[in-house]
Amino acid sequence: MSASDSTDLIIVDDTEVTEEDEIAAINYELKQLDNEIQKLQNRKTMLTQRRDKLRDDALLKNVFRSSTINWETEDFQWSKDLNKTLKEVFHIKELRPLQLQTMNAIMSGEDVILIMPTGGGKSLCYQLPAVVSKGITIVVSPLVSLMEDQLHGLHKLNVKALMLSAKTDKENVKTIMNALVVKDASLKLIYVTPEYMAKSNRFMNKLQKAFEMKKLDRFAIDEVHCCSQWGHDFRPDYKFLGILKSMFPGVPILGLTATAPAKVIIDVQKMLEIGGSLVLRAPFNRPNLYYEVRRKPNDKSACLAMIENLLKNRFAGKSGIIYTTTIKDAETLTSKLRSLDIKVGCYHAMLEASYRTQVYNKWITGKYQAVIATIAFGLGIDKPDVRFVIHHCISKSMENFYQESGRAGRDGKQATCLILYKLSDVFRLSTMVFQDKVGLQNLYKMLNYCLDQTSCRRSLIATHFEEKLTPKDCAQMCDHCKKPNEIKQPINIAPYCRYIYQIMTKAVQSDTRLTAIKLMDAWFNKGAAALRLATIPTPKFSRETGEAILGHLLINGYLQEDFHFSAYSTISYLKRGPKSSLALDEAHKIPFHYNFQ
Ligand code: ADP
Ligand code: MG
Ligand code: ZN
Repeated sequence: MSASDSTDLIIVDDTEVTEEDEIAAINYELKQLDNEIQKLQNRKTMLTQRRDKLRDDALLKNVFRSSTINWETEDFQWSKDLNKTLKEVFHIKELRPLQLQTMNAIMSGEDVILIMPTGGGKSLCYQLPAVVSKGITIVVSPLVSLMEDQLHGLHKLNVKALMLSAKTDKENVKTIMNALVVKDASLKLIYVTPEYMAKSNRFMNKLQKAFEMKKLDRFAIDEVHCCSQWGHDFRPDYKFLGILKSMFPGVPILGLTATAPAKVIIDVQKMLEIGGSLVLRAPFNRPNLYYEVRRKPNDKSACLAMIENLLKNRFAGKSGIIYTTTIKDAETLTSKLRSLDIKVGCYHAMLEASYRTQVYNKWITGKYQAVIATIAFGLGIDKPDVRFVIHHCISKSMENFYQESGRAGRDGKQATCLILYKLSDVFRLSTMVFQDKVGLQNLYKMLNYCLDQTSCRRSLIATHFEEKLTPKDCAQMCDHCKKPNEIKQPINIAPYCRYIYQIMTKAVQSDTRLTAIKLMDAWFNKGAAALRLATIPTPKFSRETGEAILGHLLINGYLQEDFHFSAYSTISYLKRGPKSSLALDEAHKIPFHYNFQ
């Protein structure tokens, strides 16, 4: 080659730089840039999260500002009456923590948000004030069955309360509408669904009249976290409640919930236009609950044998609940356990109300050892001696888990909350929740709780609810505190992550999408030969450990789920996650504190 035809090309060692070489060089540089961008993006995400957290914390400090008023006294003008009614009408000897404060504040006309664990006794905080007040208390609640339970209880105590929902017959509707506008009506509480309020002009009109007549004492909004999209159970109908404050100025609002991170509380306050309201929060720790996670066998009959063993031995003669995800699971498990001579009942939303009541009663009276139920069973359960709650499948979020497991041990005596965990259940749930704003995020927190092999379970729950606990507070009331795992060093799982990526690349080349199972198969040198890779080693550890690695990579953004709709269902496939370029860097480490077996 002569110098004349290569004016702008410097040739070294007589070797020609081909286009391919240059493309490769550019590709290399582009990849480096991608890495840099990824790193910057991660930094940006981290900083944004940190900033938001600091902002929330600052807001939270205001939210939980110590009130200048002492609400915990019996010097209010209603104190005597309150005490008398508590004993004579409700037959309760003494109040529980925060009940007095809440009632005093709400009766003084303050807006209050009360955060108290399930079973803590939130309802009394509006029921008792309703009975001692002259006017009417409106209780907004999301579920008819929940309201029915409360009405049932109140009627037994001879408290006048009625309910408005799409199911209420004309006669009762009329009675309620009238009670709102006549002087000296004996009706104390009206329970109503948010949908009904939003739809019924007639009701809103009567409420306005009652307001003008000064008969509208207060609003109590149960499950108030449903107002917020950040909550785990957002309900669009709750949006309507945003008009209450401006429509009925001066009528205090009491919001009640069992689960509410700062972000949700702030959001709820904004939505209800009660910014700066008093927020009362009961401690979350339930010292008498023993928390445990067990690996759920993949094999169905082994799983059944495990549950049989639990019910016949460890929980023999004790009362409990087994939660399943689907109606079908509940039915199958019930009939299988029955065939093993275990007395259990099935409970889910598709059963007739009368049948459900029967099941509930048989359980309450001890004829059934356990109820096998979907989460439709729960709200309004009033059985103090539930000794165990078993999750046959993980919950959708820590909030759900806390609430469901919280039905155990309301009598204060020891009870067990046991989760049966396996990775494939995560993918069953993810297809149900991925369309919610924070559905996957919530689910992965639950996965993290199950995968953690060293931390105190109680501390993990507390941290989730923004509380601090030390292992001393647990007092060996969780599996890890009772029997600590001897894991010395975290293991770097980045190499495994790269193997997984290689399997994924091969699958993409052959136009195949990988479910978690197929991916695991290929990695462990099983299943379809076309998906396997001879160049990566078959793991020496168990498949269970492999699944844990997969879970850890998913939680931490090295893998992500990719949802596709088939004719009958949604399928979750796995692909590289947002942090993949980090993992491709040989120097990058992904530590995992796990017992590799
Ligand atoms: P929450 O709504 O907070 O989950 P509930 O209001 O349904 O809880 O109350 C749970 C149970 O505790 C009910 O049976 C209720 O009668 C009972 N309860 C509430 N307050 C007290 C109290 N001070 N003493 C004894 N029992 C109470
Ligand atoms: Mg309640
Ligand atoms: Zn512990």
